[in-house]
Amino acid sequence: MTEETSSQPFKALAALQQLDTELLQLTHRRSNLPEVAELQELQRRSAEIEGSASDLRAANGELMARQEDVATAIARQVQRLHELERKMQASTGAASRDLAAMDAELHRLAEHQRNLEDEELLLLEEVEPVEAELTKAEMQLRELQIAIDEVKVRGRKAVAELDALRSTREGERGGLVAKVPDSLLATYDQVRAKVGAIAVARLQGHRCDGCSLELPAVEVDRISKLSIEELSTCDHCGRILLRPDQLR
Ligand SMILES: [Zn+2]
Repeated sequence: MTEETSSQPFKALAALQQLDTELLQLTHRRSNLPEVAELQELQRRSAEIEGSASDLRAANGELMARQEDVATAIARQVQRLHELERKMQASTGAASRDLAAMDAELHRLAEHQRNLEDEELLLLEEVEPVEAELTKAEMQLRELQIAIDEVKVRGRKAVAELDALRSTREGERGGLVAKVPDSLLATYDQVRAKVGAIAVARLQGHRCDGCSLELPAVEVDRISKLSIEELSTCDHCGRILLRPDQLR
């Protein structure tokens, strides 16, 4: 057996670890999409503005109802004034006491009408800022809705891309697994179950790159004398420790 064929299972194992790490990163990215956080923030702002828009709509509705009441009262006053004026014109020969009473009533009605017209103006002034605020809020809501639709499209696209990449990588994984002998694969699975996602480390000088700790010189000396097929493990982290000759 040449050295190249003996190192082949370990190289396949290292590639499998790399691919599994990538799959894990894809899972992490899939569940931490920035678009999701962005969407939540936009929806939060939209709900907040919708809350004040709804208050403004209620205030506006109330002011409009009051305006309508005042307009109705003014119309009624105008009609009364006209009736009284007609009555006065028709009563040219009436007693001066009756004419004075009608005149007093005319003044009273005219004053009441002026008061109503003042109230109408005040209501107009009150409505103006409420309407302006409401228009502004509704514009912001429309803009937010556009942003929400846009981020949803982007999110769906990102998910589709990540899923496509995952299915490509999963296909490749099958090919790699076939290159790793069953016993080595079983060890890989056992170590993963014990230490977590990264089960394969490399020996770099005296250091294990899985836990970054240095191995004692005697241990490095011992494992450097092992035949290429023999598996070594890091005493510190328990990971499979691939030696340079196994990756050549
Ligand atoms: Zn280690």
